[in-house]
Amino acid sequence: MVQFLKKMKDLQPKHSVKYLLHKHLNSSSPGRPFSRLHASELTKPEGLCPRMYALADITHAKPKDEWLDASSAMTFQIGRDQEKNIVHWFADMDKAICHWKCIACGTLHEFQPRPTACKTCGVKRFDHKEIRFESADNSASCGIDMVVGLGEPKYRAVELKTIDKEQFKELKAPLAEHKWRTELYLRLISESDHPFAKKVNTQVATILYVSKGGFGCADDQLKKWGLYDNFSPFKEFEIKRNDASVESLAKRAKVVKDFRDGKVGMPAGLCPTAFCKRAGGCPVKSQCFSGEYPPEYDWKA
Ligand SMILES: [Zn+2]
Repeated sequence: MVQFLKKMKDLQPKHSVKYLLHKHLNSSSPGRPFSRLHASELTKPEGLCPRMYALADITHAKPKDEWLDASSAMTFQIGRDQEKNIVHWFADMDKAICHWKCIACGTLHEFQPRPTACKTCGVKRFDHKEIRFESADNSASCGIDMVVGLGEPKYRAVELKTIDKEQFKELKAPLAEHKWRTELYLRLISESDHPFAKKVNTQVATILYVSKGGFGCADDQLKKWGLYDNFSPFKEFEIKRNDASVESLAKRAKVVKDFRDGKVGMPAGLCPTAFCKRAGGCPVKSQCFSGEYPPEYDWKA
């Protein structure tokens, strides 16, 4: 073993910045806790299993760690950086409503435009935190990338999506998964009993795509708007409320909520056998198929 480790060490380059970056960015982080029902879990292609959440609750199972390779870490970071820029540009225009965290003392200024100075320490720099809404009906929750005032009676929820510049050029309509998730967000905001939710338009939201390259597409519209730009790195799409399209998602979330509220028994699961693909990645597979927790609530019926 000592020999092996020594050999591994001999292989490591001594003066490579690339090597150091890969080593720095390779990391695992704890998976998201099961206590919160994220909208993005509901809209995953394989869907959310209410039984998994119920079993995790009663067996105190932990989510699996998530491993990040350097390329994924880089891609996510570019996305986060661009989103941050967009939100701060809207804050510069005094139109972005967020939670603003003072970078010096950490004081959070909630549901407001970016403050000119921290109310606690006076520092003038802030990180933004997304506004989160939770449905009172099914407890699914969504974090809104940006809420903006566009001169309408209510604020507009905006989803920010950064995409590869070649993919951006091809984009004629919002991607199906983004549209679906935004439809779910509109429903969840409307079902939230937070007072701020009443100030947000729940009939229409916007998805803003941002190209990961400055020169996105030649765009005739800009001249018609009286601008001097020839190209746009942005495409925007309005998404209308569509509760019917997200009914099945809301239903699954409600199964978890009803279980947690003690209204229903142990939900049935989704896996036909312990050997299917889904079960392979499930953190509560052994509990699920142990026979100890027979399904009591067939929510699929
Ligand atoms: Zn402060």
